[in-house]
Amino acid sequence: MSLIVQKYGGSSVADAESIKRVASKIAQTKEAGYDVVVTVSAMGDTTDDLIDLAQQVSGEPHAREMDMLLTTGERISMALLAMAIRDLGFDARSFTGSQAGMMTDAQHGRARIVDVTPTRVRQALDEGAIAIVAGFQGFNHDSRDITTLGRGGSDTTAVALAAALEAEVCEIYTDVDGVFSADPRVVPKARKLDHVSYEEMLELAAAGAKVINIRAVEFARRHGVTLHVRSSFTEESGTWVGSTQEGMNVEEPIIAGVAGDTSEAKITVVGVPDIPGKAAEIFTIVAGAGANIDMIVQNVSVHDTGRTDISFTLPKEDGQRAVDALTAAQKDSGFESLIYDDHIGRLSVVGAGMRTNAGVSAQLFTALSTAGINIEMISTSEIRISVIMREEILADAVQAVHTAFGLDGDVDATVYAGTGR
Ligand code: ASP
Ligand code: MG
Repeated sequence: MSLIVQKYGGSSVADAESIKRVASKIAQTKEAGYDVVVTVSAMGDTTDDLIDLAQQVSGEPHAREMDMLLTTGERISMALLAMAIRDLGFDARSFTGSQAGMMTDAQHGRARIVDVTPTRVRQALDEGAIAIVAGFQGFNHDSRDITTLGRGGSDTTAVALAAALEAEVCEIYTDVDGVFSADPRVVPKARKLDHVSYEEMLELAAAGAKVINIRAVEFARRHGVTLHVRSSFTEESGTWVGSTQEGMNVEEPIIAGVAGDTSEAKITVVGVPDIPGKAAEIFTIVAGAGANIDMIVQNVSVHDTGRTDISFTLPKEDGQRAVDALTAAQKDSGFESLIYDDHIGRLSVVGAGMRTNAGVSAQLFTALSTAGINIEMISTSEIRISVIMREEILADAVQAVHTAFGLDGDVDATVYAGTGR
């Protein structure tokens, strides 16, 4: 029998009514003749609320206890969902991450999956039941402790189960119709994409598209799991994410999408001695602080001073640690000062068609200049161009670029639920 893995995000199971609605969608899939495994996130903003609560109780919540706390969110939704499905006359069993054989390393808060042995899930399926697995959590064999996979980790749980159980498809149900050419909350005329490649999806996710977690896409690409991102509020087909098929992109626009992201900050190291080894020194310090760097720019050394400025971007949550580590090393390293700027916005255009089409950057910079937007940094990959600007003009810039590349659709996109939080 064919197997489908379905993942329902927090906004799709935000209250009792939604849980019952999702239960009947799951029942329909089972009735259509499929084996069904479901991964579920915590209800609504539960995870955020639990984090807020922990911070009220403790200045620096202990990592192990934080995972114990946060995994309860998914336990609530999985049990409620199983009950609701049972009421529809189907056998359903919920499993925690550890019961489902989700083995991870021991890093609390950002554990990586090392092995999936879904013996009990298989057994439930063989007995005709629907299996519900708590998303975002696992178990470390050595410490015998519960772990979490990091924010948005339920997508990865679903994909890992789909790979281990050799599912036909992994359906990611969310509160929009699929992957869009821009965030419909920012660009109302954004268009739903019917098909994107793993690479485009990875770049879009890295560029700030929140519809699916980047680690899940990486996992899917590595294991060849086909993804179908779609709305839990309609029956419409959503966006298929898979490998690029021959000829598939011929009719596709050059640009798949425009993404905006305000989660990064910029650090400028001012007056760095312009001698070999200084960049290595600075980035070794930043890496030692556990910060993940995105863009880097080094200026030409200012005439006669023998000094240069180096700027880079990194996630805001790593910002303070990087600044502290650099400040501690300032004397030894010999740079003059540090500027920390957490009001930047990053705009990215992504599209596999960029590889074979010249002039995409010219078109992008023209659109930005027409909109009167000042560019602070630029970086590119084979299929992406990103620019840094002031945070407050980002939304307008995304809209302007979307229009300039001819991506605006005819109708407004629908956002069914969720706060985009
Ligand atoms: N509930 C977790 C979070 O909000 C996991 C998820 O939603 O995928 O991050
Ligand atoms: Mg969530």
